[in-house]
Amino acid sequence: MEKLLSNIQEDNKYATKLYDLSYEAANMCIQCGYCLPVCPTFQTMGKESHSPRGRINLVKVAAEGKIDVRTDLATSIDLCLGCRACEVVCPVNVPYGKIYESAKEVMAIQQLDERIASGKKGYPIQNVVLRHLFPHKKRLRLVGNAIWLYQKTQINKLVQKMEVMNKLSEPMGQFEKKLPKIESPLKRYKFGKIYPAKGTKKMKVAFFPGCIMDAVMSRTNRLTIELLQYVGCEVVIPKQQNCCGALHAHQGMMNEARELARANIESFEATGAVYFINNAGGCGAMLREYNELYKDDAEMLKRASTFVMRSRDISEVLVELGPLPFKKEVNKMVTYQDSCHLRNVQGVRSEPRELLRSIPGINFVEMQGGGDCCGSGGIYNLLHFDESMEILDHKMKNVTETKAKVIVTSNPGCLLQMKMGVERSHLAKDTDVLHLVEILAEACAIQ
Ligand code: SF4
Ligand code: SF4
Repeated sequence: MEKLLSNIQEDNKYATKLYDLSYEAANMCIQCGYCLPVCPTFQTMGKESHSPRGRINLVKVAAEGKIDVRTDLATSIDLCLGCRACEVVCPVNVPYGKIYESAKEVMAIQQLDERIASGKKGYPIQNVVLRHLFPHKKRLRLVGNAIWLYQKTQINKLVQKMEVMNKLSEPMGQFEKKLPKIESPLKRYKFGKIYPAKGTKKMKVAFFPGCIMDAVMSRTNRLTIELLQYVGCEVVIPKQQNCCGALHAHQGMMNEARELARANIESFEATGAVYFINNAGGCGAMLREYNELYKDDAEMLKRASTFVMRSRDISEVLVELGPLPFKKEVNKMVTYQDSCHLRNVQGVRSEPRELLRSIPGINFVEMQGGGDCCGSGGIYNLLHFDESMEILDHKMKNVTETKAKVIVTSNPGCLLQMKMGVERSHLAKDTDVLHLVEILAEACAIQ
């Protein structure tokens, strides 16, 4: 078998790399098909090649050198949302996320080689943005401040009226309209600062504000810090922390993801905090899998494993240290849309629901398929707008049936996607989409 494979893979470095990274994992699949009904792309596209089982089979044959990674595997892998619903139902625990990211990594290597061979200079645009913007907190905050000014001066209204963004790119135009109102830069929390507990201090925690959340949803982060203070946490925001690296890993930029992870591990472990807390399902999933990045580095693996053990979603900590000091009733019908990465990767399902149900006056209604992906998938909705919207439209049928006036979620990407869904499904204009932290803060009368 080994001999045969080495013959097939001769002179095929991409197949060899893929084989090393994921062949063993791909071979765990017993082809049962239990994952097919939960896969949003299989459900909407109806093709085996767009199912988990199909993708795993394609990775296997690409690793054997029988098909080309870029021409025969890339479309199937690119159209995967990375939601990892397939992992949760798999009876033999196939590590689909590892297979998916391995394929992405090899595709990225081959793509770069092909660009160089064809005389193209530099990296594809998304890689340039991921390399030169996301790892730089100051640059991202400048972007956030610029958007704040753009909204404050109401230039955004003019831009929207003239459909300027739509003319550049329809997805960008659609999402620009759904951007949350950005809070004044003067209200921003500070990196390196320690926020004291209100009342008796129960523990010290360190907060991870993320990069996109920090730039455009700083109000949600500020409210997160205040809620933590109210349940007795002293909150430190480590100064040298960085982007979690999730988008880099999903684009196959594993070296960059490892560099970012190292910076975060170093800065958080230096705080001596009990928990490292985040409020974005996608970032949290990455933080909780940092150990996966260091399989060949014993020292970093140990440190990453400790980091993983201390990482928590905000909802877990609020349940553990609560109850929250609610001061107001929220007399609304509310439903909850799981973030796939919070539910499927971090395994956090009951805590957000428990918190919502505990709000005075609330009428919580579970939607059918609340755990099904909304089609956001990091930057999937920008790269594959039509496919993403098809998945979203399916999701919105279930949302509409709940008759909820507030849709709550726990990830910035899901939040923007659900806002888009509200518009596309012609739900009433008074239907709100909120981060879990926002509705909890509202009930605690925190502005
Ligand atoms: S990660 Fe999600 S979209 Fe991708 S194969 Fe699994 S279930 Fe399907
Ligand atoms: S559920 Fe698991 S074993 Fe079954 S086809 Fe899907 S990935 Fe393979």
